[in-house]
Amino acid sequence: MTLPAATSHAHGAYRGRFAPSPTGLLHAGSLVAALASWLDARAHGGQWLVRIEDVDAPRCVSGADAAILGQLAALGMRPDEPPVWQSGRVAHYEAALARLVASGWAYPCGCTRSDIAQALDPRGAPRARHADLVYPGTCRHGLRGRPARTMRLLVAPATAAPLDPLRIDWHDRRLGAQHQDVTAAVGDFVLRRADGLWAYQLAVVVDDAAQGITHVVRGEDLADNTPRQIHLQHVLGLPTPVYLHTPLVLGADGEKLSKQNGARPIDANAPMEVLRAAGHTLGLHVEGRDAAAWLASATTQWRNRWPE
Ligand code: GLU
Repeated sequence: MTLPAATSHAHGAYRGRFAPSPTGLLHAGSLVAALASWLDARAHGGQWLVRIEDVDAPRCVSGADAAILGQLAALGMRPDEPPVWQSGRVAHYEAALARLVASGWAYPCGCTRSDIAQALDPRGAPRARHADLVYPGTCRHGLRGRPARTMRLLVAPATAAPLDPLRIDWHDRRLGAQHQDVTAAVGDFVLRRADGLWAYQLAVVVDDAAQGITHVVRGEDLADNTPRQIHLQHVLGLPTPVYLHTPLVLGADGEKLSKQNGARPIDANAPMEVLRAAGHTLGLHVEGRDAAAWLASATTQWRNRWPE
C-alpha cells in the first residue's frame, strides 16, 4: 500500500461545476452555490459545467433534473458542455473501487449501524438516532465470517499504525486554513453502501477528476466532506481542485435552508429578485436592467471576492 505523492492544486484552464442532487427544485439556498460557481467560472474566463448527482436514486425526484436546468437557463446560466448524469457513470465508480481494493485501500465491512454503535460504546448509552458514528475500524482485518455489507476506504497514513490520526490540511478561499483529523472525525468511510448505491464521496471525486474540474465552488455545508475527498484524491493519484465554500442561507429555524424547513422553489418569473437575493448572500451589491446585465456586473465584482 503506497501513497502517491500528493498532487497540488490542479493547473490549466479553469473548469468549474455546479453539481445539484435532483431531489427537488432549486431554492434560495441552492441557487447561491449555483450562482457562485457560475460567477467564478466567468470571472476566470473558464468553463462552467453542470453535473446531475443522481446516485442516490431513492431520494431523486423524477423530472427535477430537467426542471433545475430550466431554472438555471431562465436566469441566464447555461452550461458550456452538455450536463453529465452520475447514473450513467457507474462503470467509472466500479473501476475506481476496484483500483482501491487492488491497492489495499478499500475493504469490505460487515458492520450494521448497531454493530458500530455497540463497538463504540459497549454499555449501549443512547445516542441521537442520526448522529454520525465514527467507524472504529472493526473490519479492517477481515469480515470474520460475516457477509460484506459496505465497502470502506482506509483512513490512515500509509506508514502509520492503524488508528494514527490522518490530518488533512487544506485551504478554502473564503474560510481560510482548514484541517481535520479524518480518523477522529469519521474513520474509514463508506464508498459503496449496503444497498449497493455509490457514496457521494467516491462519485464526486471520480467525476471532478474525469471532468477536469480545477475549481470547486459549493455550499459551506459540504466543507467537512472536503478532507475525505482530498484523501480519496491522494490515494487515487488525482489532482486536488481549488475549493471555495459559499455562505449558507438559513431557514426560520436557524438551520440551513432546505425543503424540510420550508424552502420554496425560486421563482424564475422574478429573476432580478432571485439574483439580487443570492448576490446579497455572496456579499455582492449589484444592480442591472435585466438578468444578463446583472450577471455581467456581478462577474466584474466577483473578481475581487475571495481570490485564490
Ligand atoms: N450534490 C451535492 C448537493 O447537492 C453537491 C456536491 C458538490 O458540489 O460537491 O449537495
